[in-house]
Amino acid sequence: MPDRVKYLIDEQELPDSWYNIAADLPEPLPPVLNPATGEPIGPDDLAAIFPRNLIEQEVSTEREIEIPEPVREVYRQWRPTPLYRARRLERALDTPARIYYKYEGGSPTGSHKPNTSVAQAFFNKQAGIHKLTTETGAGQWGSSLAYAGALFDLEILVYMVKVSLRQKPYRGGLIQTFGANVIPSPSQTTESGRAILAEDPDCNGSLGIAISEAVEAAVKGDKTRYALGSVLNHVMLHQTVIGLEAMKQMELAGDDPDILIGCTGGGSNFAGLIFPFLGQQLRGGRTRRIIAVEPAACPTLTRGRYAYDYGDTSHLTPLLKMHTLGSRFMPPGFHTGGLRYHGMAPLVSHAVSLGLAEPVAKAQLACFEAGVLTARTEGITPAPEATHAIRAAIDEALRCKQEGRSETILFNFCGHGHFDMQAYMDYFAGNLKDHACSEEEIAMALAGLPGAG
Ligand SMILES: *Cc1c(COP(=O)(O)O)cnc(C)c1O
Repeated sequence: MPDRVKYLIDEQELPDSWYNIAADLPEPLPPVLNPATGEPIGPDDLAAIFPRNLIEQEVSTEREIEIPEPVREVYRQWRPTPLYRARRLERALDTPARIYYKYEGGSPTGSHKPNTSVAQAFFNKQAGIHKLTTETGAGQWGSSLAYAGALFDLEILVYMVKVSLRQKPYRGGLIQTFGANVIPSPSQTTESGRAILAEDPDCNGSLGIAISEAVEAAVKGDKTRYALGSVLNHVMLHQTVIGLEAMKQMELAGDDPDILIGCTGGGSNFAGLIFPFLGQQLRGGRTRRIIAVEPAACPTLTRGRYAYDYGDTSHLTPLLKMHTLGSRFMPPGFHTGGLRYHGMAPLVSHAVSLGLAEPVAKAQLACFEAGVLTARTEGITPAPEATHAIRAAIDEALRCKQEGRSETILFNFCGHGHFDMQAYMDYFAGNLKDHACSEEEIAMALAGLPGAG
């Protein structure tokens, strides 16, 4: 087999179905609870927020869920995505490890997000919905939903975290280019936003606040629903197209990963790459090391609690069992916007709590260093979120060098950083700092958990 850099599979090998890990879990996922009654919620409780067809996916335990042809047709524009062997990075590290990455940055908005935004737009349209509201942090999700709305003729309203819109005005511009409206959050357009602004007129915003605004706008709107870019089961499901392709491509490469790595904000790109491999393991296949990488400044999996919590700041959502720093946790205004959520996907939290994945936290400066090395060797400038996965992959490759082991590492290269050049420039200028949360900060945020204190 020749030494190839890129492993491609053709359009016919695009998966027909997404993979639902709920079918293979050794213990079922803890139920979602109604905060008023403490009882598990039923599908009807979600009907004001999501369409029926997506609620069915949310609670499904079918192993395979068919990808509708109109969604596959859109996917084919950039899928299957390439799997690369990072030979130049390996050489720069002088490591015996083999490093591969699945590159999701070639999508229309430069990340993995359209894998689910396109699916969600399709299912909402099919259910007769006219308008979708959502929130966005760094802007990748907002622009991805805006793009999908343009394809399926849906009106899209995006609440973008105020500090992120200030730092990344071009993401706001991209959202508008796709025909969607973008509002800086907190805003005067919702009760939740007005309440926050009354307390703190200069509030920078957070994902939790923006979610509150978007949910409120969906519940109050006509033929309007809400769309979430991560955390929920149906989002994890749609992202599994990444791992399903990667399994075929690793076979093509004649190799098999010993270590799988993804960065975790809400958990979706991690789940997308990892769940198909993990499912194989749960059905009796080989065990691999699975590493979930989060920022040290928002250490949900490594320092949060596995407990029931709200998904948003204003407590409009049901209670999810997940790793959380508390819904009032205000992450510092540092740059990796997509990884700043206080909670984590219940499916990812469940996997971590069962010992199926190891969480690690990486500091911002070490991540940028890894991002710069990747740009200078592989030629792709990673999104700041992706640099967390890369940092962990590099650290594993350096460990292999020290131990003289040639392990195979596969990480999810979830997006490019072309809209994040200000962050890179701040890094080069020496203006970025590492922020490790103090024990007090974390204890204070956790004290706000429902039922705590
Ligand atoms: C949104 C985003 C993330 C964080 O979300 P996950 O659901 O954890 O994947 C990470 N990387 C990129 C490039 C993103 O756009």
